[in-house]
Amino acid sequence: MMAQYLALKGEVEDCLLFYRMGDFFELFFDDAKAAAACLDIALTARGEHEGQPIPMCGVPIHAAESYLARLIKAGHRVAIAEQTESPAEAKKRGSKAVVARAIVRVVTAGTLTEEALLDSRASNWLVAVARAGERFGLAAADISTGRFELTSVSSGALDSELARLGAAEIISPEPLTGVIERRAGFDSLSAERRLKERFGVATLDGFGQFDRAALAAAGGLLAYLEEVARESLPFLRPPVALAADDHMMIDAATRESLELTKSQAGTRAGSLLAAVDRTVTGAGARLLAADLGAPLLDRSAIEARLDLVALFEGDSGFRDAIRKQLKALPDIGRALGRLAAGRGSPRDLGQLRDGLNEARRLHDRLAREAEQPPLLAALLPTLTGHGALVDLLSRALVPAPPIDTAQGGYIAEGYDAALDELRATGGEGRRAIAGLEAKYRQQTGIPALKIRHNGVLGYHIEVPAKHADKLMGADSGFTHRQTLAGVVRFNAPDLHEQAVRVGQAGAHALAAEAAHLEELIAAALERANVIAAAADALARLDVAAALAERAAEGGWCRPHFETHSCFEIEAGRHPVVEDALRTSGDRFVANDCALSEDGRLWLVTGPNMGGKSTFLRQNALIAILAQAGAYVPAARAKLGLVDRLFSRVGASDNLARGRSTFMVEMVETAAILSQATERSFVILDEVGRGTSTYDGLAIAWAVVEAIHDRNRCRCLFATHYHELTRLAERLDALSLHHVRAREWKGELVFLHEVAEGPADRSYGLAVAKLAGLPPPVLARARSVLAKLEEGRAATGGIAAGLDDLPLFAAAAEAEPKTDPLRDALGEIEPDALSPREALDALYRLKRLS
Ligand code: ADP
Repeated sequence: MMAQYLALKGEVEDCLLFYRMGDFFELFFDDAKAAAACLDIALTARGEHEGQPIPMCGVPIHAAESYLARLIKAGHRVAIAEQTESPAEAKKRGSKAVVARAIVRVVTAGTLTEEALLDSRASNWLVAVARAGERFGLAAADISTGRFELTSVSSGALDSELARLGAAEIISPEPLTGVIERRAGFDSLSAERRLKERFGVATLDGFGQFDRAALAAAGGLLAYLEEVARESLPFLRPPVALAADDHMMIDAATRESLELTKSQAGTRAGSLLAAVDRTVTGAGARLLAADLGAPLLDRSAIEARLDLVALFEGDSGFRDAIRKQLKALPDIGRALGRLAAGRGSPRDLGQLRDGLNEARRLHDRLAREAEQPPLLAALLPTLTGHGALVDLLSRALVPAPPIDTAQGGYIAEGYDAALDELRATGGEGRRAIAGLEAKYRQQTGIPALKIRHNGVLGYHIEVPAKHADKLMGADSGFTHRQTLAGVVRFNAPDLHEQAVRVGQAGAHALAAEAAHLEELIAAALERANVIAAAADALARLDVAAALAERAAEGGWCRPHFETHSCFEIEAGRHPVVEDALRTSGDRFVANDCALSEDGRLWLVTGPNMGGKSTFLRQNALIAILAQAGAYVPAARAKLGLVDRLFSRVGASDNLARGRSTFMVEMVETAAILSQATERSFVILDEVGRGTSTYDGLAIAWAVVEAIHDRNRCRCLFATHYHELTRLAERLDALSLHHVRAREWKGELVFLHEVAEGPADRSYGLAVAKLAGLPPPVLARARSVLAKLEEGRAATGGIAAGLDDLPLFAAAAEAEPKTDPLRDALGEIEPDALSPREALDALYRLKRLS
């Protein structure tokens, strides 16, 4: 057995091996140690291997799914080795033969389909990354619904794309962080063949244009799926070609700092998604998360989504009715995924039946609308045309089919006459058996006699031990089967006869049901793509109705798009902060923002806790919501499309997370300066704060200048460096703003209002007092401050001398454009030089220096 075990383990070195033994999956050696620690179950030992006891632990089959879930969550991959023959079959091969086993599946975080292991409101992406030249191809599959996307991006955008997908598992032949290294299949030629085979097409043109990088990634993905799924290949719909530039680029750091789908604490609660999400279906929630993660850049596509939201927004009665219907929908996308992965149940078919039936009713209701926005008109046809399948499933299945097929009973009566007959025969047999009980009682005179059934003996007669003697004799007509503490069990010829009849009819009925199940699944899968399209349409309707609901709830408005890059928000709010304030009974103060091409940079100053970050973020979130096709938390919103969005927070704000350092802040700021375009939107919060005052001010100063002169993007820049306000004098498109605060009777009051002009003072000591700094310390700080201010008045302060600084552009021009010495050095190829030429080259360089 160990030889078999080790051979199987050899196939899946990087997985824990679940080795089936009877009613348990057993783990051995290091697998056992890892699993026992992770699952908190007992580690035992069994037998010996090379003179050492073999560590072992096991999980019972019936509870395997929950243990699997925990192992996968903890980052393990699990291979499942099942018995592929019964012990009896093995015996036939020889008394010592080991039951044959094979790995039937590898369970990994990115290839789950089980309902219990998946979050119904989140997608579950497996992503393959391949490089071809300068491009990175990404193939992303959510096999729980069959969604399959292909794209390719430049290396600079890879991080944003991976962050957008938030994959459960990433595979790549490239040594990237957080990636499982795989090599098989990652070449574009064999990938093209694989894709054509898989989708039964002669050319991929019908799916869109894919470059070599995208194809290579697709190949790696398919190869990996074949490897983990073994025989039953999972469900994949034809690939959708995504252009990396069809959605707003938002890098990982920005997503994190804006808390788009997860709060900084890592929870869904506290995120933008949670504050916006009013969807009533799992599929809707998944789509909303995807939408917010990838705001669009195509104005007409955005307007199409907004038109649909508007349809639901206007009429709350209509909206409620549709949402009620949507809420009753089963998750047909995931049901289809399970069926296609070969792990479907009668219940999944029942869900398709009910979901598609409901889809038609929704269609009929929506088709009656006089006003049909184009997106609705495009979605409606996918909701009908499933009648034949729905009819078939309605006739074939009982109203609430079970997950477990072992007991049968899921095929409806009247669907198959032969099955009905088998059931009738079984029923007659069972009635006959019930009749026998009365007969035997009479015959033996034992009223406590019962006919029972169990898995070991089948049907049998049971009497209390004290009466057993009456049935014991050879001529009694009963055969003794078993004696237990209080009862004795018997069989009898006519009971046996009926039991065989019932048993045979039952077995045949089960087989007939199983055959029907297979046909029904095949019939459903034949329509997999159109069913998936219906599921997508239902999700889109749910998202639109949910966004309308959210807008109505919060008084949100429809954003308007302009061709020039403006950003004008009236009475904007931060949805997450507003919600939080509401629960504590406070009111959120709405604020305007008005950026334009020649007033594109706002410098926001004011005391800590005054509301600077909140203001910055709310505007970034409004841009995301607007381009995702949602209404926005504002009274009015007008904006030019944002191609890239960046958010950076000064290092010390992030220290709690333990990994942000000044270095990270600078790396991230560098990324913005190199990537932001004139159409981008950037929020910078206290950049430069993670270092000493002089360094920080100097860096912040230079960053503001660069953003103003070079990137020319829309930007909100919050800072506590008062000195930066001097920049307003020389940068035309920069204006000064501050969050208002007042000292009232010695107490600091934050008004959370954004007003024009610089803050009058920094209020640092007032904030410190608010925070509870002891009075003697405060008093001391006050006198130190007075001294410092005296000094500042005398010398002109820390920004003294900045007035003489040349403008950024001028400074840049003053840099020598070329360096002849370096150029000459660059041209030298040492390997191509003779010693003599090398000497000449050295002289030449010397002359240039
Ligand atoms: P800063 O960045 O200036 O230090 P924050 O934006 O972090 O300040 O805001 C501090 C707190 O003030 C927030 O947690 C919130 O409770 C409150 N706040 C911020 N903006 C507003 C607003 N517009 N209306 C009401 N309360 C606000």
